[in-house]
Amino acid sequence: MPSICVYCGSRVGHDPSHRQAAEELAAVLLRHRLGLIYGAGRIGLMGVLADAMLAGGGDVIGVIPRALMDSEVAHTGLSRLEVVESMHIRKARMMELADAMVALPGGLGTLEELFEALTWAQLRFHSKPCGLLNVRGYFDPLLTFLDGALEEGFISAENRRLVSVESSPAQLLDVLLKTL
Ligand code: AMP
Repeated sequence: MPSICVYCGSRVGHDPSHRQAAEELAAVLLRHRLGLIYGAGRIGLMGVLADAMLAGGGDVIGVIPRALMDSEVAHTGLSRLEVVESMHIRKARMMELADAMVALPGGLGTLEELFEALTWAQLRFHSKPCGLLNVRGYFDPLLTFLDGALEEGFISAENRRLVSVESSPAQLLDVLLKTL
């Protein structure tokens, strides 16, 4: 089964639209019969997304480092839980299992994961499509920054296009699925 790796917050954020977007993304994945690969947390948008997938009968694989597992934030009801030894192995494994990577709103962890996926695409370590779900313009400042980095000559036009940006989960999946 093709799978999408989703990076998203270990918090839900203040605005209810973030939670709604995670639930909507789960509905779209289920509709397309796509599996979910994610960080295995049961908290924040991660938990919302996984619970919505599982409630709809979807396939959910979580990959979590042992250290985070011990702090009891791992989701225990997943289709499969892979426990790995480090964050580095986790991120590599999540990308390996997935056919495309998507970031939802989140904080430092989400940004780090998204940028690792984009950096590895830039280096041609993988050629899997990467997408950003720009809920309520949450990522607008980041996209402005990337445009500035392009203008300043630090990102090529080709690499600036590595991330597809949409504000609705259905549209984002349509764009990514075309390139699979
Ligand atoms: P953040 O955006 O800083 O909330 O971090 C969320 C991202 O980092 C997720 O995509 C996870 O892969 C990872 N992550 C951070 N905290 C946790 C946690 N407590 N449990 C599982 N994964 C986490």
